[in-house]
Amino acid sequence: MTETPAPTIVVAGAGLTGLSAAISAREAGARVVLLEKGGREDVGGNAAFSGGLFLFCYDGPDDLTSITEDFEPGMKADRIEAPPYTRQAYAAELSAMSGGQAEPRLVDRLAERSLDTVRWLAAKGVRFTFNRTVGAAVRDGVLHIPPGQILTCTGEGMSRGFEVIRPLLAHAERIGVEIRWCAPLVEVVRGDGRVTGAVVGDGGETVPADAVVVATGGFQASRELRRECLGPQWETVRLRGTRLATGDGIRAALRAGAQKAGAWASCHSAAVDPTRPSPQRSEASPPFPLHGFWLGVLINRHGERFVDEGPGPWVKNYSKMGKAIMRQPGCEAFEIFDQRTAARVADEFAGAAEPIVAHSVPELAERIGVPADRLAHTLQAFNNACPSGDGASEGRGTAGITPPKSGWASPLDQPPFVAYHAVAGLTFTFGGIRIDPDGRALSADGTPVPGLYAAGEAVGGLFYGDYPGGAALMRAAVFGRVAGATAAQETKPAPHPA
Ligand SMILES: Cc1cc2nc3c(=O)[nH]c(=O)nc-3n(C[C@H](O)[C@H](O)[C@H](O)COP(=O)(O)OP(=O)(O)OC[C@H]3O[C@@H](n4cnc5c(N)ncnc54)[C@H](O)[C@@H]3O)c2cc1C
Repeated sequence: MTETPAPTIVVAGAGLTGLSAAISAREAGARVVLLEKGGREDVGGNAAFSGGLFLFCYDGPDDLTSITEDFEPGMKADRIEAPPYTRQAYAAELSAMSGGQAEPRLVDRLAERSLDTVRWLAAKGVRFTFNRTVGAAVRDGVLHIPPGQILTCTGEGMSRGFEVIRPLLAHAERIGVEIRWCAPLVEVVRGDGRVTGAVVGDGGETVPADAVVVATGGFQASRELRRECLGPQWETVRLRGTRLATGDGIRAALRAGAQKAGAWASCHSAAVDPTRPSPQRSEASPPFPLHGFWLGVLINRHGERFVDEGPGPWVKNYSKMGKAIMRQPGCEAFEIFDQRTAARVADEFAGAAEPIVAHSVPELAERIGVPADRLAHTLQAFNNACPSGDGASEGRGTAGITPPKSGWASPLDQPPFVAYHAVAGLTFTFGGIRIDPDGRALSADGTPVPGLYAAGEAVGGLFYGDYPGGAALMRAAVFGRVAGATAAQETKPAPHPA
């Protein structure tokens, strides 16, 4: 038998998806060229700015011991309460949050491979710890963590997600992935019906390839595509993550014969502090997310409420608050709290955002620039609609007002009042390339485009109106890994007899 050369797989994008694809293809025996549009300082794409939360299935503590040894340090709790999160629960939640539109085959694959992929990341050096912040709380010495959202990567602050990227980049380099920085994919080349290469950068150099994996993220950083797909008000929106995900990889895949999928007019967008700009390099902090809305009310420039602030745990709702704000006059809003919750908001949900403090409703109205009579009427109507008795909990909703506040409804009647100015921060777009559960890019007739694969934010079909926190990093790692492995498997040459 003679040695046959290893196939060459080009992976475009060095975010979590691209690194996962590159590593899995390389470990399956392929030669891998990883093209990254940015410089080395841009590695990681959106993951570098992320909270590092992964949503995955587990049956109980035994599933977690192989992933994290961190059962105590700094926890300030005697034990952890984290209900199991089954595949069925994962699938049901994704399906419900997409209004039934998420493609069942993709949902099932994400749920089915999630635990195994978190273990795979841990084996590559990613360190995980228990989620102590995102929707988690210590009560009576017990750390309660929402089902599925149990682990984040270790690291400090808002951009702890970079700690997912650092070990993966080191691993990819160690195993011989050839990384080319400042090398954007501009075109996927096809010949004889299958992919034969990737055109890189302005010079138009073609890298010959047996397969191309598109892992270039969404199109949220393209002003033109935002206007075209999301609407004109999105043109000047703040970004929460990478400035390089401009959709050029998606467009190259579409030109090569792939089909569009998913919600091109929708996106993940949170309420953020308007004083912080869109981040530039990976080490920059994203605009601080103002996730305290569920502890007060959100009002618009006219002094009116416009959204249900408490339809469930905030961590299941924050991703649609930016869209709700974008629909308001001036695309802005104010989060308003009283002394029942102001200290908690300042502590947990406001970062360095500047609080606007007022001792009465008219003073508040003047300070935030909304009509005093409207604001007084809105707050009075809200207070009257809150259930009687003290305390706020998920089960306490308003009665008789529109929009309702379905949970955590407590009157705002203990001045001084505190307001935070909020605008939308765009996290990522939901529309992209159609794929099958193995990461093959599909053409209009539903058949694979030979040699073309895609994963992560570059694909559509999983997230629609809303999504559960942690599912995006999980999608990136699961489908990146799957697409890289499929590409390597399907380009493996049959051995030739001598
Ligand atoms: C502030 C913030 C917080 C978040 N927190 C969480 C969280 O806690 N949990 C969670 O699940 N998700 C979270 N997310 C979402 C999550 O980070 C992303 O969904 C995920 O990282 C997407 O990975 P990706 O590799 O598919 O895309 P990206 O991260 O966008 O990576 C794409 C890469 O491709 C490069 N690129 C672009 N165009 C080209 C081209 N033409 N050629 C070559 N390279 C190109 C980019 O520079 C980038 O490096 C968060 C996102 C943000 C912004």
